[in-house]
Parts: sequence; structure tokens; C-alpha cells
Amino acid sequence: MLRKKIGWKFDNTYLNLSQSMLSKLNPTPVKTPELVLFNHNLSKEIDLDFSHIDNEELALIFSGNKLPDGSESIAQAYAGHQFGQFTVLGDGRALTIGEHLDKNKNRYDIQFKGSGKTPYSRNADGRAALGPMLREYIISEAMHNLGVPTTRSLAVIKTGEDVIRETILKGAILTRVASSHIRVGTFQYALISKNKNDLKTLFDYTLKRHYPKIRKSLTPAKDLLKIVLEKQINLICNWMRIGFIHGVMNTDNMTISGETIDYGPCAFMNEYNPDTVFSSIDHQGRYSYFNQPRIAKWNLERFAECLLPLINDDTKEAIKIATEVLEEFPEKYKKNWLEMMRKKIGLFGDDPKDEQLIIELLSWMEQNKVDYTNTFCYLMNEYKPKSEIYKEKQFILWKKKWEDRITLDHNSSKKSFKIMRKVNPLVIPRNHLVEEALNLAIEKNNLNKVNKLLKVLEDPYNRISMTINYQSTPSSEENYKTYCGT
Ligand code: AMP
Ligand code: MG
Repeated sequence: MLRKKIGWKFDNTYLNLSQSMLSKLNPTPVKTPELVLFNHNLSKEIDLDFSHIDNEELALIFSGNKLPDGSESIAQAYAGHQFGQFTVLGDGRALTIGEHLDKNKNRYDIQFKGSGKTPYSRNADGRAALGPMLREYIISEAMHNLGVPTTRSLAVIKTGEDVIRETILKGAILTRVASSHIRVGTFQYALISKNKNDLKTLFDYTLKRHYPKIRKSLTPAKDLLKIVLEKQINLICNWMRIGFIHGVMNTDNMTISGETIDYGPCAFMNEYNPDTVFSSIDHQGRYSYFNQPRIAKWNLERFAECLLPLINDDTKEAIKIATEVLEEFPEKYKKNWLEMMRKKIGLFGDDPKDEQLIIELLSWMEQNKVDYTNTFCYLMNEYKPKSEIYKEKQFILWKKKWEDRITLDHNSSKKSFKIMRKVNPLVIPRNHLVEEALNLAIEKNNLNKVNKLLKVLEDPYNRISMTINYQSTPSSEENYKTYCGT
């Protein structure tokens, strides 16, 4: 009998880079793989058909115990500034099993996270725990549905093995799908490589893979810097729009594609407070909500340093050119942010007082410790507050000003609500709800809450029957902490 095909179409080009940039090795087999989550929507989107594959077989494939034909797994080398300190790193617990092409020739890295030790594992075990892998699955898929560029999640399997952290945890492997895993840190690694060609080879590879249009440019390195700067501005503005805090914006966690990557200590802000930090190790608030654009610029400066030899043979001239590009960051960011915030409160056109109006609202939220997401929902008549906060005098005054501004240029609130609905989510992955769902999955082996959460987060801009339950805010979040590399 002819066996129906899954449709893998591997074309593994990263292997053609210098061998110093990667290590070839297979995942370490796991004891008793068991499927926990599988993303059929994503598999269809990338032209893979698993409908005829049972869960046992899926678990074998996505644990790495039975690699698909055509896969050639590698760990990538990279470096990075972690909290400002330069370190040589690499995939310590991840393997890219290959690059899959969909029918339109879009290329996707298929990567296992938690698949065993690699030459870059240092003293760690190469494994991942179930909680953080489920968390990455939920949040990355939510981000995608919220319209934010991101890596995706295809599957989570349990390994049947323990991982030792502060306590004994259940082991798991996540399959991540990314347009590539080329990071600022990959360039940093190539820059310090003994092999002088590594940087140029990586650069050429990156242009071919992501930005073929600038290959013929007379200034391709400058152009790449400019494009990545714009991609990152777009990304950070999207994070700011939905109150997302990445938590560990090290240069090894910043992609050249402009996708969000590495969902470790990330979390969503409830009450608006620009200083919000959730990560247990971010004592200085380096990666707080408000600092994200500033850090993106700092990371882009590190990227620019890598590109200098490719920008101009004369270092002074190269620095001058790169600096000119980087100096555009504040203005470009501001413009992008203002456009985004204008949409959040449904403003058309460009009034000089708009920025002040936006800042007044944010300041009011901060002073009164009001929920960020729900305030915009309230303005769109999509949130029924339990408290009296929106009856507060200052807010009423602001709202009057806002309504007057909306009617400027003969606009109507109906038109405004239409644009607001596209940028203001009704639901986000609220930390307390994510934790509740994860606990049930881990402690009781019960995925009901995870699946319900995934369902409501599939359509975050539209009201469905469950929406109201997911607009609830936690009673207190003072002690909510998130963790890296767990
Ligand atoms: P992350 O915090 O996930 O960005 O990871 C930072 C670095 O630590 C990367 O090089 C990871 O591959 C590595 N790493 C994190 N956890 C582990 C682990 N359990 N085993 C090996 N390497 C790890
Ligand atoms: Mg990382």
C-alpha cells in the first residue's frame, strides 16, 4: 500500500556555512516520548500533513527519536552580550533538524529545543522542562495571533525523563519553527572567528535568505543595518502595543529576520507601569517595559560593529556610515510608536497635541495603577469594569478631550473604533491564567485549561463567548516572577 506523505521538503543550506559556525550532531534519544501538544494549523500553513500520523508516531518524530528523511541536524554557534557582558554561546540545548520549504518556497528552520547536549552546552544538561516549553508554545502562538512577528511552535512532547533544576521536573521538547535562527549574536560569533571569511560568508548567506533585494546594492552592509533597524523598531512597537516584556533582550536573542525569539522570562504587563520587570535575574531593570526600545538600539549598535568591515575598508569611514544609520533610530522609533499609539486611541490624521493626549492617558494609568489592556478595551466599550476607576475625575476630563479630538475632521467614534479594534486585543495571555493552565497540565496531566487558553488566544481581537473570562486581572501581581533558561 502506498503511504501518504507528510510533505517534508528539506533543503538544508545553513550547513554550507563554514564548519566553525556549527556542529553536526543528532538529538539524544529520549526514554518514552509522549505527545502533549501539536499545532495542526501551523503544520497546514507550512504544507505539512500529519493528519494520517498517530500520536505515538508524532511523539517519535518530534522527540528526535525518529528523524524524518532529509533532515540533517545541527547546533548553531553564536555569541552574545548577556546583560551587557560578551559571552561565546551556541545552541546548548537546541538542534535545527533542517530547513523545510513550503509550496511557495518559504524557508523554515525546524528546531528542537531540549533535545540534548551539544558542544555548546557548557555545564548544562541540554534539556528543557515541560512548564517552560508549554509556556513558549502558548505565548509564541498568542503573539502570532496578536499580529507580532515571531517564531512559532509546532509541537511539545514529554520525554519521560526527569530534568533536575531547583526541583525535579518533567522533561520536554518543543519544536520551534522560525524563518531562521540568525541572530545578532551569530554575527558577533563570525566577527571573532579565526576563519576570516566567516563574516562575509554569513553576511552573503543572510542577504540571500532574508533580503535578496539588497544583494545587488552598492552599499549592502549599510542597507542590511538599516533594514534590521527598521524591523526591530516595528517589532518593539508591537511589543509596546500589547504590553509585552521580552525579559532577556540579550544580543543572542535578537533575530536578523525581526521575529521575536526565545520565550524565557517574558510576560505581559497588567497594570501600566513602564518600569515593569518580571525576570528574577533582571535586578537593574535593564530589560523593563520602558527600556525595550533603548536596548534594541544598544543591540543594533553591537550589530553595526559586526558590519563595519563590510561597510568600508576604512574603519573611520565605516563608523561614520553606521553611526548615521543608528542615529536615525530615535526619530524613526518615535514616529512608529506615535502612529501605533494614535491607532490605539483611534485618532485619524496628525494633530500636534496628540502626543500629549497619549502621554496623559498613560500617566493616568500609571498613577492609578490601571490595567493597560483593559483600558483600551474600556474605551472601545469592550470591557465592563468591576471597579469605579473609570469614573475618576481626571479620567473623565481626559475622555472628554479624547472625544473632542476624535470628532475633529468630521470623524465619528464608529470609524475610530474600527481602527482601535484592529490594534487593541480583548485578551492577552494573562500571567495568572497562563500559570493556572500550566499547573493543571503539569501537576494533573490535564490540558483542558491550556487548550481553552489557546482557543481564546487564537482570535484575540474578536469577542467570543469565552472572552469575558479571560479579561480578568489578578488580585495582586507584586510577586510574579519569571525565569531564564529553565
Ligand atoms: P537562553 O536564556 O534560552 O537564551 O539561553 C542562553 C544560552 O544558554 C544559550 O546558549 C542556550 O543554549 C544555553 N542553555 C540554556 N539552558 C540550557 C540547558 N539546559 N542546557 C544547555 N544549554 C542551555
Ligand atoms: Mg537564547
